Order: sequence, then structure tokens, then C-alpha cells
Amino acid sequence: MMISRSKHRSSIEVCSDCAASDPSWASINRGLLLCAECCSVHRSMGRHISHVKSLRQGCWPPSLLAMVQALTAQNVNSIWEHSLLDTSAPKHLRKKPTPKDPLHPVKSEFILAKHLRLAYVLRARRDEPPSELGRQLHSAVRSSSLDTCMRLLAQGADPNYYNQLPNHLFEELVMDIYDEIDRRETEAEQTDSTATQPKEEIATLKKELDSRDSTINELKSQLKNLQSIVEQLTKENSVLKTNSIDDDSIISQPSIEDVKPERGKSLEQQLNLTEDEVKMKSQRPVSMYETREGPKNNWQVTKHQKCDDPSLQHVVDELRAASEKVTLACTSQAPLDHVRTAAYDLAKATKLLVTHYQPT
Ligand SMILES: [Zn+2]
Repeated sequence: MMISRSKHRSSIEVCSDCAASDPSWASINRGLLLCAECCSVHRSMGRHISHVKSLRQGCWPPSLLAMVQALTAQNVNSIWEHSLLDTSAPKHLRKKPTPKDPLHPVKSEFILAKHLRLAYVLRARRDEPPSELGRQLHSAVRSSSLDTCMRLLAQGADPNYYNQLPNHLFEELVMDIYDEIDRRETEAEQTDSTATQPKEEIATLKKELDSRDSTINELKSQLKNLQSIVEQLTKENSVLKTNSIDDDSIISQPSIEDVKPERGKSLEQQLNLTEDEVKMKSQRPVSMYETREGPKNNWQVTKHQKCDDPSLQHVVDELRAASEKVTLACTSQAPLDHVRTAAYDLAKATKLLVTHYQPT
């Protein structure tokens, strides 16, 4: 701070009250530099009269330092000592302390007269209304003229003065403010309406997500049903197998070793013939699954088969009807419940046949 001050050091840097050189204090609200002695009197008057601050200690905000430098450069001391500078006035009325004068009473009395009683400030004209000083201060503040502001304040201008508008101007200003409020409200509403679009999109996406969830749950329950159907069919198949163990022991399929070659027929032809014969003999699928995808030729044979026994014919008819139902349900992509019912009926018919009618 002192370095920056040294750049601006000039001949005017003397105590504003006694002209002592090398002032080490400043009065911020008076815009003056002071020696230590005069500063002590300033401090005794209180900060509302003179706000002093050391130039060699503490920290100065740059804007505050710039303001004090500007005020001292503009020699605002001439405002506080206006009448002392009037060369037309008598000499004894223009007397000012020197650095060698004693602090008390010479310097202190001068300081109290100058700063407390404002004895040397140029008075405002008596016919001038107090509001005029306020109006001038109002203009000076906006023009950033520091010394004019200081002079007007020294003359008694009201710092809180504000320029009152005539009624018609005031009404126009109020209408302008209302218009501005309306404009901003309209803008805010438009912003809100654009902000609701993403909300609608989110709601739609949520609905889609919910419907997909329900689809997944539905598929899961269908999968469970299918699993239980498979389990039940497996059980029924094992029951059927158990019931037909005796049948299987009766039907003895010839092994390759048992087939004796005949003249004019290859071994392969004989094997095929043997297998066909075995199929004709058994006339039933090995498992439930075979009824769906198994050897259809066997069932074609069954379809055209005529029996002498009426009860056996009834069982065969039931079996054929059940088989057709299963085929229809599987090929027409009917609901799984229908397929299941048809398959169950077929299983019952098959069980009836293999349980009660032994192969001849
Ligand atoms: Zn001094």
C-alpha cells in the first residue's frame, strides 16, 4: 500500500490541518491526510465526524484507497477551509496553525472549529430550499464527481434525498412495471408448458414398462403351467410303462443274431420286414410323447382296423378320436389348456387299451 502511495507522493502530501510534512493518517469521510497529532484530535470527535485510518498499518481495500487518493488529489481540503482561502477577508480571520504550534490549544481549537462546527465551509444561500442541495447531490452522485459530492455534503445536503417524480410520471412508471411483470409471467408459463412435454413422455414410457412387466409375468405363469403339464405327463407315462411291463416281456423283438438269412433276400430286407412285423404286433406307442410325434403309420393302421369285439371297437374308436383331437390341437395352435386336455384324454384311452387288451 505504501509502495503504491509513494508513486503518488507529491507536494500536497502534508497534514491538512497544520501542514506538517509526511502525514501518517487519513480521514476517510473528510478526504484528508493528517499528522499523528492532529489525528488524535480527530479521533476524539468520534467517527461520525472524522473516520481516521493509519496509512502505515492495517489493510486498505483498493476502492477505499483509490477514493481517498482521488479526494486528496482534488484538494477537497479547500471545501473545509473555503473562507480561509478568501483573499478578500481580513488576515486574522484567515489564520491557520503551523506544524510548530502547540497541539493544545492552538491546533485542537482550530480542528474543532474546522471539522466540528464547520466554521470555514461555504454556506448555502439562505433563499435556497434544502431540497435543492439534495437534488444537486442526487445529480452529482450519478456523475461520479467526488469533490462536488463532498462540497454538497459539507454544505448540508441530505444524503438520503431522492428525486420525487411528478404524479403522472410515477403512474407511467408503475404501468411499465406491471407490463414487465406480465411479460415475465407469460414467459414463465411458456417455459412451464415446454417443461411438461418430457413429463408426458416419462408417463408414456412408464405405462409401456408396466405393460411389459405384466407380459413377462403372464409368460412366467404360462411357463409354470407348462412345467406342471410336463411333470404330470411324465408321471402318467411312467404309470403306463409300469402297467405294460408284462406286455413288453411277451413281445420279444428278434435280435440281429436271431434273423437267419433266407435265399433271394438280403439281410437288410429281412431286418426291415422284421421291424415292420414288430410294429404291427405292438400297435401302441412306447411312450406318451410318441403319440404326438411318433410313428403315425401305426395309428393309420389302427384307424382302418375293424374288430369283432364291440367293446374293443369302442376303445379303439375312443383312441382314434383322442388322437385326432391331439393332432388338431397341436396343428391349429390352440391354447395349451386344450392341448393338455386332448393329450390327457389320449393318455386315458391308451391306458385303457394297453391295460385291458393283451396282444394276441
Ligand atoms: Zn497536523
